[in-house]
Parts: sequence; structure tokens; C-alpha cells
Amino acid sequence: MTSDNDRVLIDAGLSYRAIQQRLDSLGLTADALRAVLITHAHVDHVRSAGMLSRKHGIPIYVTEATRAAWGEGAKKVADWKFLLPGRTVAFGAMQFVPFGVCHDADDTLGFRVNTPDGAIGFATDVGKITEDLISRFAACRVLVMESNHAVELLRVSPYAASVRSRIAGDDGHLSNEDVATFVRDHLGADVRCIVLAHLSRVNNVPEIAKMSCLDALCAVGREDVRVVVADQDRPTPTIDLASLSRYSARLAPTQSGLTQSDLPFA
Ligand SMILES: [Zn+2]
Ligand SMILES: [Zn+2]
Repeated sequence: MTSDNDRVLIDAGLSYRAIQQRLDSLGLTADALRAVLITHAHVDHVRSAGMLSRKHGIPIYVTEATRAAWGEGAKKVADWKFLLPGRTVAFGAMQFVPFGVCHDADDTLGFRVNTPDGAIGFATDVGKITEDLISRFAACRVLVMESNHAVELLRVSPYAASVRSRIAGDDGHLSNEDVATFVRDHLGADVRCIVLAHLSRVNNVPEIAKMSCLDALCAVGREDVRVVVADQDRPTPTIDLASLSRYSARLAPTQSGLTQSDLPFA
């Protein structure tokens, strides 16, 4: 996430080389990062955080429990900073508010990121949608949320039964269907973009996740909300919060629930 010259990475689960390549595609190097904030100690979130810290002197922000659970890779971290749920950490105009979510790692965090152009809600490893998560996401402009699996694909998955029930459990991962229920029942009026994240390669299909979310948006007359699916192998297109804010001011929903962009051209 970037605001002016302040750049912060949430999690570092890709390889060091892949992170370098993605930063390079944005014209940046790792030296540009002010911090890496870690949601939890699972390897798909911490893989190269130690290396980034050691090679570039980047501070790594974690909870005490996450540091304790991290294991060997933590030895490479050059600069520890600590997170507490509810305690805001600011980088320039961005204020990161960590909050606890249900997941099978100690002290797993989501973030609400407050900026002058609106808030971003971020939660990628979540077993269930709680009242707390709903309230953290309520007034956000952009949501980055997990859409890990399709219930039916998980049911017929090659994974062992014990793993499947962990994934589906309250400390596991959100399904496409969970996201759809959230969208239908709890989506905040200010949301303009949903980024579906943390999709399983085995138990989900990007097009199914996207259609499921779009169907739910359609059911509640929220065709104004853009849906982006984050891909494990490609960088997600940059989402500019300021232009989303301008867009929403210009294209307020009409009484029929349509926006101007929905009108046919001819
Ligand atoms: Zn996890
Ligand atoms: Zn994960």
C-alpha cells in the first residue's frame, strides 16, 4: 500500500525474488518499503519477510504471539516492531489499525487502513465472519477479503478429510459462499471495490469466485461495486483510492438503483 512516498507491505509470503520482481514492475526496490506488517506466522505470509528485513533493514511488525510461533525464519529479522490489536500504527497519511480474526494461527490479524481518500479493509485468512469484522469493514471504500474456496469444490477436493474440515471450520478459511452472504447482508454503502484474495488453486476457480460475488452484488442492487480477483501468479492491478472516491461522488446511484455507467450507449 502506498501513499505519497510511504510504502508498506502487508505480509511477505512470496519468495524474495518474486517480491523483488513485483516491486521492479512498479519501478521500486525493496529499499522503498518502510515496513512489512505480518498478519500471522503461516509460511504463505512470512516466507521472505526475514530476508527483506536483513537485506534492506526493513522493520517487521508482528504481534508477540506471531513472533513466538514463527520459528527459524524469524532469526533473519533485523528489526522487530510490535503490533497490538486496536493500537494504530501510522506511516505518513496511512493509519493501520490491526484487529483479531478467527484463524488457526495465534493472534491472526486483519487491518483497517485509514487514509485521507477513504479506508481499506484487509483480511485474508479468516475462518468466519464475525460482528467485529463486519463493523471493521463497514465504512471502508475498498475491501481485500478472502474468498478461499467454493464449498462444492472443497467437498470433492483431493485434500484429506481432516484438512478439508479444518479449512471449512471457524478457524479456517472463508468460502465464496461466505463472501456472498457477507455482501448480501452486511456490505457497507461506501464500498466501491472488493478484491477477492487468498484463493485456493485446488479448491476454487477465479471465475467462480468472481461470479459468486457479482451475483450477490446484483441481488442487493450494488452493481456499482467493482470486483477484482487477486491471482497468486500475477500482480493485482493497482487500485487508486482517490479516483474511486471521485468516481463515487460523480456516479451516485439513481433512484432506480442504476448508476450512469449502467445506461446503454444507444
Ligand atoms: Zn493462515
Ligand atoms: Zn494464508
